[in-house]
Amino acid sequence: MKLLFVSSEIFPHAKSGGLADVAHALPRALKKYLDISRVMPLYGFMNKELLEKCEISFRIELSGIYYNISLYTSENDGVKTYFIDAPLLSFTQNLYGDAKGEYSNNDLRFGIFCAAAVELAVQLHVDILHLNDWHSALCALFIKDKKLNLKTVFTIHNLAYQGVFGFDSLQRLGIDKKYFTMDALEFHSKVNLMKAGIAYSDCVTTVSPRYAEEILSNTFGCGLDGFLQKYSSKLFGVLNGIDTATFSPLTDKALIAPFDSEHLELKYLNKKELFQNIGVQEGIKNPLFAMISRLAHQKGFDLLLSSLELILSRQLHLLLLVEGTASYKEQLEEFAKKYDNFSFLFGYDEELSHRIYASADFLLMPSLFEPCGLNQMIAMRYATVPVVHGVGGLFDTVHEDESVCGRGIVFFEPTKKALLGAIERALELYQNTQKMQEIIHFNMKCDFSFDKSAKVYFHYYQNLFEELQ
Ligand code: ADP
Repeated sequence: MKLLFVSSEIFPHAKSGGLADVAHALPRALKKYLDISRVMPLYGFMNKELLEKCEISFRIELSGIYYNISLYTSENDGVKTYFIDAPLLSFTQNLYGDAKGEYSNNDLRFGIFCAAAVELAVQLHVDILHLNDWHSALCALFIKDKKLNLKTVFTIHNLAYQGVFGFDSLQRLGIDKKYFTMDALEFHSKVNLMKAGIAYSDCVTTVSPRYAEEILSNTFGCGLDGFLQKYSSKLFGVLNGIDTATFSPLTDKALIAPFDSEHLELKYLNKKELFQNIGVQEGIKNPLFAMISRLAHQKGFDLLLSSLELILSRQLHLLLLVEGTASYKEQLEEFAKKYDNFSFLFGYDEELSHRIYASADFLLMPSLFEPCGLNQMIAMRYATVPVVHGVGGLFDTVHEDESVCGRGIVFFEPTKKALLGAIERALELYQNTQKMQEIIHFNMKCDFSFDKSAKVYFHYYQNLFEELQ
């Protein structure tokens, strides 16, 4: 069985969020079960000289226009990645947009990507394509339209990003108007590319069992709950994992003092170095709460901002490593000027994020919704106790007063009162050294690797493969 994993981002080549981590780690866990390779765009900021030029090249056609496609490859941990070098798609210096917003031609950019990925699948004699989020959703429609003998799995990593474009998109992408119906691409008179993945894939998954249930409701369905209900018989929740080789506190090269569960005292050295580096003089003995996140509404920053004064009045230090929306940034910067126990670091920094996971006592995730969330699993590996809003994957992976993996502090209402209550419980836990250690030891033994999800995905692929025969 041959599978092509299609993603708009793959760590370490390009990353904007958890999708890149999954696209890196899941194929790696799957390689022992089947012949798997990956495909992603070659973006303008990537160095072609570090890649190998591939012998395969071809043309694709969208709406009467031909696009020349060249391919590059690289091999990472035994999995080959193909990079699609195409006009428009590869001209940009970012993945999806810049300071002015999303690139206006993203429909065409990712339409070209999908058409090229399907042609590559045909040339590689692939059986199944595993598509991820709206950027690769059109592959399913192209396969259906051309009646190709290929099966598709479509994974929704975040339903909030659907790839919605104007009606003229159909013409640009060369898509027949027969697909512009409520049961297919139409979404409030616009074109919704995520819907193509849901309607035309043979199997649809999302990244946690709880999120698979939530998205069928009005609250979490982002306007697609009714549409998803229609396809619920082929919708499954498969919990993500993390790359346990990359996120290992004992072998992590970013840490000044690597540690394991028998040497937790070394966490303190990491914390000391972190405090020195970010210029914090006092409060090292106080619990360190950290957030490592996109600065977006989804991640609960409105809730955090409304509670921040009260949070910072407690004996704790709060540190944020975030990147994103300017209005949140300005408000948070104001708080950082006023409070010594608040550090605000703006930017995306992989190494620093590892040092923070290793140094913090608690990782705060007040997300309004969270399809899976990787941070809480990384935190638990690094002996950091998660404090989370119990939604989506956070509900599935963090439990209070339970002996199932993993353990932490959970609040169930997205309110100031519930968030402050959770922080209060975390502070109490910090005082109870024995219980805190017990939880940390328990969490460090939990299996958050991708092995379990790989087995489930393999089962779905096998079923589809049998249908092909
Ligand atoms: P999402 O995909 O919604 O952003 P996930 O929890 O699935 O959230 O994945 C987030 C990933 O990105 C994690 O690996 C996290 O450590 C990393 N990350 C998020 N923000 C930053 C940042 N500012 N600097 C470094 N890493 C970050």
